[in-house]
Amino acid sequence: MSDRIETHYHATAAPAAFDDTLLAETETLVVGGGLAGLTVADGLAQRGRAVTVIEARTIGIGASGRNGGFVSPGFAESLDAIMRRIGRDEARALFDLSKAGAQRVRQTIEAMGRPEIIAGEGWLKVVRHGDGSDLRRAAEARARDFGHDLQFIDRADLEKHVTTDRYRAALLDPNAFHIHPLAYARALAARAVDAGAIIVEGCAALNLAREGGIWRVHTEQGLVRAHHVVLAGNAYQHGLWPALERAVLPVATYVVTSEPATELLARAIRFPGCIADTRRAGDYYRLLPEPSGTRLLWGGRITTRTTVPPRLIEALRQDIIGVYPQLRDLALERAWAGLMGYTRLKMPIIGELQPGLWACTAFGGHGLNTTAMGGDLIAAAIADQDDTWRRFMPFHTAWGGGWPGRIAAQGACWAMQARDWLDEARV
Ligand SMILES: Cc1cc2nc3c(=O)[nH]c(=O)nc-3n(C[C@H](O)[C@H](O)[C@H](O)COP(=O)(O)OP(=O)(O)OC[C@H]3O[C@@H](n4cnc5c(N)ncnc54)[C@H](O)[C@@H]3O)c2cc1C
Repeated sequence: MSDRIETHYHATAAPAAFDDTLLAETETLVVGGGLAGLTVADGLAQRGRAVTVIEARTIGIGASGRNGGFVSPGFAESLDAIMRRIGRDEARALFDLSKAGAQRVRQTIEAMGRPEIIAGEGWLKVVRHGDGSDLRRAAEARARDFGHDLQFIDRADLEKHVTTDRYRAALLDPNAFHIHPLAYARALAARAVDAGAIIVEGCAALNLAREGGIWRVHTEQGLVRAHHVVLAGNAYQHGLWPALERAVLPVATYVVTSEPATELLARAIRFPGCIADTRRAGDYYRLLPEPSGTRLLWGGRITTRTTVPPRLIEALRQDIIGVYPQLRDLALERAWAGLMGYTRLKMPIIGELQPGLWACTAFGGHGLNTTAMGGDLIAAAIADQDDTWRRFMPFHTAWGGGWPGRIAAQGACWAMQARDWLDEARV
């Protein structure tokens, strides 16, 4: 991804710089200043433990400062698939952890006294094909198996929230919410620093090795010795621990934001929360209420290319108009790409790889709650020997397979898109 920072989030978050000096020794060294690494650091610092985060570039420059901002329970993998693999009780336990992750984000924002980071409440999951009966059944199963209540909304009721012919029905999750993710990442980093964490930007980890029970990490700013190392580099991490990096496939997705257009947008979208369709490679979008007027943030598309495609704004404009033709004249301002890290099983890698070497990575497209959950689990494991992270061990066998894995991932992207088109063709 380009070093040029051109997201709406970077243009609107209060600036922050973390320029601590790297110490030669620490108890825990966290590699990666995204929400996973920052949550580990915050969790350890709040418990009075010594922790240093090194970030190759700047805090939140990766997926954590580029995403859609939707916070809700769940994982990148569907709960049905998780249940098939590990059974209902274990799946329910993981779902509850993911729910605690979403609550952790809300509670941290409240505790920091930064309510403005939360920009809206609720999530509408909309369907573009069928009569909504699949959604109704999905809601019943979700309530029965996971105690998660979702409200069914039929086509007539959906009219209150959006004006489009595209959607047939929706499920509403009233407890989901959306945030300014970069503001959250920077605030969380500042909170960790206040509690004693050290954060060093512009400091990539270059390699690591274990000697005499201690991890030695060579970084761009010198050698660090640590009892624990947490790898939290997402799909941006290369050359540190190849077995882990092979398991994490980079998948790009794209976001565009509009200029303020309060009245024009109100003719199309009135729902103040998150909206996403149920396609595997679907659209996700939300209104950004800002003092200068309401903007649209629209995300979608997935590929395995790691550069920004040419004519990205135009491509996303076509997606918007495909749902809301009345937004044809909406002026689009900034578009950007970000990388999501996926394992073959679409579940995160959370846990101990070797004594004192921890992974907290591969949160896919569902990372805002799961990085909070994963970061808390790793902090509890290091500080309190808590072994709840072991619940994720059934997913540790995933292997991405280097460049063949990339091809497989691209194939999977195309297959997802093809299945979406087929579903809609059946309407
Ligand atoms: C466009 C987009 C939209 C998304 N929308 C949503 C959404 O709406 N809701 C949701 O829940 N999830 C969403 N996601 C997913 C979510 O953003 C991620 O899962 C989550 O942010 C991952 O956090 P992370 O800390 O693991 O990784 P990152 O935020 O990517 O952080 C990893 C950091 O590690 C650093 N790093 C890598 N290697 C090294 C090294 N060797 N030394 C030092 N530092 C290193 C990188 O520079 C980077 O800053 C989206 C993702 C994208 C890209």
